[in-house]
Amino acid sequence: MSLRYSILASGSTGNALYVESDEHSFLVDAGFSGKQMESLFQQIDRDISKLSAIFVTHEHSDHIKGIGVLARKYRLPVYANEKTWRAMEKLVGVIPAEQKFIFNMESVKSFGCVDVESFGVSHDAAEPMFYTFHQSNKKLVLITDTGYVSDRMKGIISNADVYVFESNHDVQMLRMGRYPWNIKRRILSDVGHVSNEDAAIALSDVIGDQTKRVYLAHLSQDNNMKDLARMAVSQTLASRGLIVGERFSLYDTDPKIPTTLTAV
Ligand SMILES: [Zn+2]
Ligand SMILES: [Zn+2]
Repeated sequence: MSLRYSILASGSTGNALYVESDEHSFLVDAGFSGKQMESLFQQIDRDISKLSAIFVTHEHSDHIKGIGVLARKYRLPVYANEKTWRAMEKLVGVIPAEQKFIFNMESVKSFGCVDVESFGVSHDAAEPMFYTFHQSNKKLVLITDTGYVSDRMKGIISNADVYVFESNHDVQMLRMGRYPWNIKRRILSDVGHVSNEDAAIALSDVIGDQTKRVYLAHLSQDNNMKDLARMAVSQTLASRGLIVGERFSLYDTDPKIPTTLTAV
């Protein structure tokens, strides 16, 4: 039995993560139009209509754009906490009541042998939360859209086999860039996004013996670059005694192209 995953797409323009076990398949967020989501599923040769659940992290459009369309077209169950449901109600349109499920923050739901655990993050949305997938002793963590990674979050996500981890911006690029000051301040704040440096520092605290793969996710298209993120994170990890390529590998994600379906 194994868990498999593909980061369908990740970046400031849209996010979606696919996870499957032998019996179930799941989607976390659908930050693209229905058509784009269908194309992403085609690229990994999987069927949207077979999804057991869509888990929503928060109501920002780069995470929910396709939720309403997919839920209605394929009659899929959608899970979110109550505050997120309230905040996204108008944005996703009508979803039939029998497809709406509450997933409280810091709780676990089981689908066969897979336990899905939610945990809160620090971000300017109603009640943002991310997810950890557990099966047997395997663990996959998704964490993006957080201004910082607290000790409480680190406790929950520590020593995962796979991390899909936010590495949103290079602080220098953001400061020098074209964004208005209020937006820059928002991104840099405690309820914004994690920089390359901060991602590396948090990663160095949570990477453990079990960790094999780290994917840098939710890169800003304006304030970051894949090479820059990978270099900054590797360097900071190395300065803390964690050499990329020794026990674990570091991977990019792409705003449009899915990562290969991989076993955890
Ligand atoms: Zn986002
Ligand atoms: Zn967000």
